[in-house]
Amino acid sequence: MSRGLVVDAAPQQRARQALRAAERLSRAVVEGLEEGVIVLDPRLRPVSWNVSALRILGVSADEIAAADARDLLFARDTLRYDSGKSLSAQDNPAQRALRQGAPVRATLRRAMPNGSERWITILARPIGGAHGTNRRGVVATVADVTGSVEGAQRLREERDRAQRYLEVASTLVVVLDAAGCVELVNRQGCELLGYSEHELVGRDWHETVIPPGDRPEARAAFQQLLAGEEPPPERAETFLLTKGGEERKIAWRNALVRDARGTVTSVLSSGEDVTERRRAEAQVAYLAHHDRLTGLPNRALLEEQLQRDLARARRTGGAVALVQVGLDNFKLVNDSLGHGAGDAVLRETAQRVAELTRAGDVIARQGGDEFMLLLDCGAEDAQVVAQLAGDRIMEALEQPFAVAGAEFHIGAAIGIALFPGHANNAESLFKHADMAMHQAKRAGGGTVAFYERGASEARDRLSLTSRLRRAIESDELRLHFQPIYRVEDGQLVAVEALVRWEDPEHGLVPPAGFIPVAEETGLIEGIGTWVVEALCKQAARWAKEGFRPRLCFNLSPRQLRQPDLVASIAQAIARYELPAGQFCAELTESAVMSDERRDSSLLDELHAAGLAIAIDDFGSGHSSLARLRDLPVQVLKVDRSFLRRVPEDPGSTAIVAAVLELGAALGMTTVVEGVEHPEQLALLRRHGAPLAQGFLLGRPVPAEQLDRSPARVTA
Ligand code: C2E
Ligand code: MG
Ligand code: MG
Repeated sequence: MSRGLVVDAAPQQRARQALRAAERLSRAVVEGLEEGVIVLDPRLRPVSWNVSALRILGVSADEIAAADARDLLFARDTLRYDSGKSLSAQDNPAQRALRQGAPVRATLRRAMPNGSERWITILARPIGGAHGTNRRGVVATVADVTGSVEGAQRLREERDRAQRYLEVASTLVVVLDAAGCVELVNRQGCELLGYSEHELVGRDWHETVIPPGDRPEARAAFQQLLAGEEPPPERAETFLLTKGGEERKIAWRNALVRDARGTVTSVLSSGEDVTERRRAEAQVAYLAHHDRLTGLPNRALLEEQLQRDLARARRTGGAVALVQVGLDNFKLVNDSLGHGAGDAVLRETAQRVAELTRAGDVIARQGGDEFMLLLDCGAEDAQVVAQLAGDRIMEALEQPFAVAGAEFHIGAAIGIALFPGHANNAESLFKHADMAMHQAKRAGGGTVAFYERGASEARDRLSLTSRLRRAIESDELRLHFQPIYRVEDGQLVAVEALVRWEDPEHGLVPPAGFIPVAEETGLIEGIGTWVVEALCKQAARWAKEGFRPRLCFNLSPRQLRQPDLVASIAQAIARYELPAGQFCAELTESAVMSDERRDSSLLDELHAAGLAIAIDDFGSGHSSLARLRDLPVQVLKVDRSFLRRVPEDPGSTAIVAAVLELGAALGMTTVVEGVEHPEQLALLRRHGAPLAQGFLLGRPVPAEQLDRSPARVTA
């Protein structure tokens, strides 16, 4: 038995030891907790606690042991909800947990004994019976959450402040979610757009306030912004449509709003209504570019337009004319009838000239009593277009002016400068138009004068000459080819080689811009040699491909005086092993006729070398038809001025028909130049014209762009 007792006693002791060890262990765990733990008996007196509880509540072990827990820990005056509402004794979380038999959680502000205030969360759990009976007390865990509560509060305050800012901000602020719906819009935005906040929030922004025509683009920009593909543009301007249907121009600043993972969730945009400012700017720009008195463009705007026209003319080989109109007797009107009458004359002048302009022409007031007319002549003959414009303006201004009850005459002097004939850039075109106008003034009232080279220009020419010399050396010349077609079946039978100068400063310069100077300075000889060489090289390349058109090239009068001209041409042709009969030299009518005074050896030499000879620009000079018959000429190229008024003008039509007959009678092949309209081509077919050349059929192009297929001549 005793043995049995001994045996019985040992496990009990071990069990007690184990229990004590377990208690020590759990005590150590509880002591080590960051959170405070307090165990309260059913009357809510503290029976056990850890050091964290003392620290968090700011009390000593003696104080907590001696305290009535309700007063010490949860006394009603020291405990408040976040809202600041005081708790009654019954609201004490521990007491409530005991009463309810369920855990109660609260975050409370506690006044610490040292006078500071802390935020504390309390989780109070009842211990014992689950049905409100037999409860054994409460375990309360407490934690100091002052840091996070204050952080959250600061965040809330900040948001409130931002909201207040939004309301007072002078800009429209809108936040759109990723679907483009309005999340938030401020008062300014509502006022500007004429919608109430609830009419906008949740609605599709683009559908509601972007003008229908702008929507696709606005949506695409928004998607791009969302995708973060590009940094949002600093400032973009768009139109918004108000509820009342008015369009307002808004300048935006956008910022992306991202979530914690960095994904863009919405776009915050602040917009400034710049409608009035932009209107004012446009007004200022208008005033800066227009003359107040007449409402016409001023010189500044004219210059801009001229630059654009010149750029286009260089690209397309077109021409530009600048017409300067200076009034006569204007000072007399101003002095005798007063400024009011002077102004009226200027306005009337502006109106009369404006009535004569065609679409695309620009009329400007240069200042004082001077007006400018800018004519973009395209492919038309600038000389003719400008002369016509000058004559018409002159006629219009010669009609009497009736101002301030008086009728009087005001004449004008008109000066004209052409690109590329008279100038290569805007500055010299202005200068030369002005010089021409003064020339017209000197010649007496009522004169239209074209610019003529004078001594003042020697310097310009010098620089052009040296640049042109360099052009030949540094390979800046280009050869373009214009096709010539058989009218009957549209076959491409010949090409004309036309030289261009790719000037690094001024772009592609047409021959009129440099051939005359090259002629004067003798540089034409070098250019001519280059042209023949380049033509042969291209012809050899084409021959390899089986393409062997008649090859036409131009010779200018000065070249005809070159003693070794024919020999050097023949040598080049031989060097490339080409048949001389494939070539045709084009000489102008005047060059051929001036050759008459010497002897016709050059034409004979060319003929003897096997080349065909064409009279270029036939009809522009004064040919002796009898002489023509005796020359070794096979081709007649009809000057394109004949075709210009065909078919409207019966006179021109008759001349073309007569020239075609003449060509046939002389046994020559006739090429009609300058075919620009289908009606002209139809007329040529009717009159049996053999060959035709013109922009309608094909413009001069680099060799690789030449279309060798037949022209569609059935217009
Ligand atoms: P051109 O020999 O009478 O050449 C025909 C001119 O008329 C070319 O002007 C051509 O572009 C233009 N043209 C052709 N079809 C039409 C048309 O349908 N409408 C209009 N409005 N114009 C048309 P480009 O190339 O400016 O040549 C002008 C002149 O310069 C030539 O007149 C020729 O006399 C001379 N030229 C061109 N290349 C050379 C060259 O290599 N050497 C020499 N010495 N003179 C050349
Ligand atoms: Mg020609
Ligand atoms: Mg010609």
